[in-house]
Amino acid sequence: MLQAIEDNIASLVEGLNFKQKVERSLSLIEQAYKEYGQGLVVADSLGKDSVAVWHLAKRVSPDIRGFIVTTRFKPPETKQFMKEEVARYPELKIYENNAEIPDQLYETDPNRCCDILKVEPTRRAIEEMQVKCWITGLRCTEGRTRTDFQEVEERDEGLLKLNPILIWYEREIWQYLALHKVDVNPLYIEGYRSLGCGPCTKITTDPDERAGRWIGTSKCGGECGIHTRPLKLINGAGI
Ligand code: SF4
Repeated sequence: MLQAIEDNIASLVEGLNFKQKVERSLSLIEQAYKEYGQGLVVADSLGKDSVAVWHLAKRVSPDIRGFIVTTRFKPPETKQFMKEEVARYPELKIYENNAEIPDQLYETDPNRCCDILKVEPTRRAIEEMQVKCWITGLRCTEGRTRTDFQEVEERDEGLLKLNPILIWYEREIWQYLALHKVDVNPLYIEGYRSLGCGPCTKITTDPDERAGRWIGTSKCGGECGIHTRPLKLINGAGI
């Protein structure tokens, strides 16, 4: 049975080669699919890690579903790429929050902005798609906020989170995508390494992969909240 495990992640990152990591990821998704079937759903952010995870999941079963959380601030290139991905995979469902928010909330209170525009639709997706286990493209080598995750976690009661590429290096993601000729968001051609909403994502030369996120705010290099905030609605309560 798939359950929260605490492995020595750092030793797996360094100790497994590319092929072993791919096999480990496929095996984790296979186990989860056997256990959860249609309750297993991929969260697809349309970034390089997500498209790698989506490709791995499709190798396990073409029936695995997914959801994309988009916002009014996603760059046009990402919106176009989203359209192409959904046309290719109609089992990807789009979630968005169109609620009114104060102007430039992303500058004055980016945590609140992410809560409304990203965390709320993620919660809705999990509820509506009856997700029992969600798959993410999170990687522990991605930045300072991502070092303490595990491959299988239960952050919310009754909702398992599977991070099947947690131990992959950035280089191994590109290796996988190139070898399998997977289409990626064209913004990578411009030099971005981590993609998000337009106002909160910049191209940098910083060694930290997520350094271009939320530059100039307390959230710099940080998280939108879907990996850190509770995702199960309690008695229908939102954020
Ligand atoms: S990434 Fe920026 S614009 Fe997008 S939801 Fe978060 S704060 Fe708002």
